[in-house]
Amino acid sequence: MNVILLGPPGAGKGTQAKRLVSAFGIVQLSTGDMLREAVAAGTELGLRVKEIMDAGNLVPDEIMVALIEDRIGQADCVNGFILDGFPRTVGQAEALDSMLNHKGLTIDHVIELRVDEEILVDRIKTRAKETGNDRSDDNEETVRHRLSVYRQQTAPILPFYESKGALKAVDGMAAIDQVSAEIGTLVGGRR
Ligand code: AMP
Repeated sequence: MNVILLGPPGAGKGTQAKRLVSAFGIVQLSTGDMLREAVAAGTELGLRVKEIMDAGNLVPDEIMVALIEDRIGQADCVNGFILDGFPRTVGQAEALDSMLNHKGLTIDHVIELRVDEEILVDRIKTRAKETGNDRSDDNEETVRHRLSVYRQQTAPILPFYESKGALKAVDGMAAIDQVSAEIGTLVGGRR
């Protein structure tokens, strides 16, 4: 089973992806985590993307598409994967589509976590406090910028998946357990 989780930063994609991992035995592919690892390790990729990430902007499509193509090709993805944070532009969604076509793979479910932006800003601020703010992109100004980047560059991919009949929305403001239960029902009738 291959799943895409969509929704603005702070919507709970990471949390829900981890729950799908344990419920369905598939892997979580978080492009944000991959990039943060590259930054922490000081790789060439990390050096290229650090400033972009700190500013809350999007890393260029060609870098992201190459990164995800390489990751999807690895052995642990054979039972399925959850894309968390990818695709984030129409260009990435189209590239993913043709990449999967070539590999004879399909996306089974595209799940949008719908949220209220103001509550989200509070949530991200709380996360920053609780985690000792180890994410350099978790301050209010950058969070607001990332939300506007989502509205302008990522939200336009929703109609792309809607036209394919693949898009399903859940209320991301509900309690974490309830959101997981709803997603579980959508993807397979179990958690
Ligand atoms: P995230 O943890 O998913 O919120 O991602 C953190 C940051 O990594 C984003 O604000 C972007 O700078 C970068 N990033 C992650 N995924 C992508 C993507 N698919 N396309 C472009 N930039 C990305």
